[in-house]
Amino acid sequence: MPELPEVETVRRGLEQYVAGRTVSSVQVLHPRAVRRHLAGAPDFEAAMAGRAITAARRRGKYLWLSAGEDALLAHLGMSGQLLVGDPDRPVGPHVRARFTFCDAGPDLRFTDQRTFGHLIFVPGGHELPAPIAHIAPDPLEPAFDREVLAARLHRRRTGIKRALLDQSLISGVGNIYADEALWRARLHWARPTETMTRPEIARLLAAVTEVLTEALQAGGTSFDAQYINVNGESGYFDRSLAVYGQEDRPCPRCGTLVRRDRFMNRSAYSCPRCQPRPRRARW
Ligand SMILES: [Zn+2]
Repeated sequence: MPELPEVETVRRGLEQYVAGRTVSSVQVLHPRAVRRHLAGAPDFEAAMAGRAITAARRRGKYLWLSAGEDALLAHLGMSGQLLVGDPDRPVGPHVRARFTFCDAGPDLRFTDQRTFGHLIFVPGGHELPAPIAHIAPDPLEPAFDREVLAARLHRRRTGIKRALLDQSLISGVGNIYADEALWRARLHWARPTETMTRPEIARLLAAVTEVLTEALQAGGTSFDAQYINVNGESGYFDRSLAVYGQEDRPCPRCGTLVRRDRFMNRSAYSCPRCQPRPRRARW
């Protein structure tokens, strides 16, 4: 599953290689790719043909292309990719939709091996497409407001890691970056949000922004020209993880062995010494 830094890398690639160009034609090669477009594949193809792409935008892990007032929203699912390349290259078996451009330059292909992802044409959606309007801003966008989030965290009465993964509060923070940010802020993942002080919340939100920014810098240049791959290696995962996936390895700060707990059918990694478990834990 791509996380925010990888999706932002793709967005930058789309901004560079697709924005400013006009779509010539659209071919939907598998109807599942546009299953949420209820008027059907031919209508989707007609809606996007001839449209000028003005920008590539993102909120959390969601990407969209602005076309005038409208938007093309991409849900990448588990295995979806947006690839830009030579329009004459062979069309592989997993290509679900193909966009060609009036300048006859590189085309855009939506490929998806498992077909969980899909594309939606959203009329009037260029600023923020309606299907993702309930998703809160992510820490890297200007609309993100730390004060508002701090107040909402206090009222929520939940465990802090669960809150970080709740996209109605804050978007774009997956399991990996939540654990890393909590470690940096020296906070246990099951800390009840209503017991957190203002400085603790500020420290945590600063850590979240820092972790995402570093990951973006590590992965932000990994796509080469004409080829954008949402599942591309970011390089961050191997080099810089302090606790995530590091069970029984020493904490880089104090040397105590990292602990893994079961959490929401997944895991939560923490340092027992730097992040002592609160007396009253919530998860
Ligand atoms: Zn430690």
